[in-house]
Amino acid sequence: MRLFEYEAKNIFKENGIPIPRGGVAKSVTEAERIFKDLGPSVIKSQILVGGRGKAGGIQFAENEAQLKAHAKKLLGSQIRGFKVGSLLIEEKLDIERELYLGVTIERSQGKAVVLGSGKGGIDIEELARTHPDQIIQELVDVRRGLRPYEAAEIVRKAGLQGKNLTQGARILGQLYDVFWKYDAEVAEINPLVVTREGSLIAADAKINIDDEALKRHPEIRQDDEFLTDLEQEARAHNLGYVEMDGEIGVIGNGAGLNMTTLDILRYYGGEPANFLEVSGRTYMKAEQAIEIVLKNPKVKVIFGNFFGSISRCDVIAQGLAAAIEKGRVTKPLIVSMRGNGAEEGRRILSSLGIPIYENDRIAGEKAVELAKRG
Ligand code: GDP
Ligand code: MN
Repeated sequence: MRLFEYEAKNIFKENGIPIPRGGVAKSVTEAERIFKDLGPSVIKSQILVGGRGKAGGIQFAENEAQLKAHAKKLLGSQIRGFKVGSLLIEEKLDIERELYLGVTIERSQGKAVVLGSGKGGIDIEELARTHPDQIIQELVDVRRGLRPYEAAEIVRKAGLQGKNLTQGARILGQLYDVFWKYDAEVAEINPLVVTREGSLIAADAKINIDDEALKRHPEIRQDDEFLTDLEQEARAHNLGYVEMDGEIGVIGNGAGLNMTTLDILRYYGGEPANFLEVSGRTYMKAEQAIEIVLKNPKVKVIFGNFFGSISRCDVIAQGLAAAIEKGRVTKPLIVSMRGNGAEEGRRILSSLGIPIYENDRIAGEKAVELAKRG
């Protein structure tokens, strides 16, 4: 489950990583109040995907009138298909350079991967495609952790020198600590900004936490006020559910796959009603997932797109089958399955009369067709 930027930044702050001054607003009035103490500000839509800058989800305000206009426009709008429920209003940084720092887990080797780049502000996936030579990468044995000299070497290669190098190495060490302490799958600062005054500050924050690990950290995300009722209910079941505005309910295992699913549906002219991630150990919760998705009255069709890995397709299929047999699947369900356990999963579901595909584009197109027929 991904945390909101402001939640991730609170964790950063508690762990010594410098963040801009600011506050969270869910109304224009609150935004104005925060702005008064800040002056020139950046207004940041709080949604659970990146790429907000390019999509118009990040705006700047020099004065109160601009602040008001942007806040009004952004609150309740859709950015990259996600409804903006709150805004993070922060002091505008004077940017000299943008760097990338990240820590992620390499499960197959049981190691952490620490990443750095002098080309921040670009998604790491895009950077890996366009400038693979500009990414510095270091495998770290999680039993011994990231050594200070390793952190220093990474930020040096990312282009920091002198005082900034010392600061950057400390921040990377703190980022690693956050990653470790919160059982994160990803902890990322993109960009880490070098300001014109020469200090380092985390302008953006991303933390993904394993859904299982979330149970061990009750201190995280107790603040539910920005979630919809259904999102709160899903969270109580440890399901990562995000409500959207369309008619096709989406269930999938893995956040990356879910993003692809949304793209497929939109390509064929459909609009997702939600996305729901059943991964980690929550993949056994397909039955509960179906129930949550169908509680949204807008849903006309459910599209399940699964790629079996650790979360096996046959186990997911059993969960779906249980829901079908109990009569809980009251709307058409279309499923695509590949990978681990897919053959068995497809057999289970087709024996129950569920249209099942190997190719998720074809399945997605069918789901859109069905949703349009009502
Ligand atoms: P993302 O697009 O969702 O990753 O959102 P970010 O928080 O990373 O913001 C996108 C881009 O907006 C950054 O890479 C910066 O170039 C710019 N930006 C964000 N905050 C500030 C700020 O305080 N000052 C200035 N000048 N630019 C900012
Ligand atoms: Mn960013």
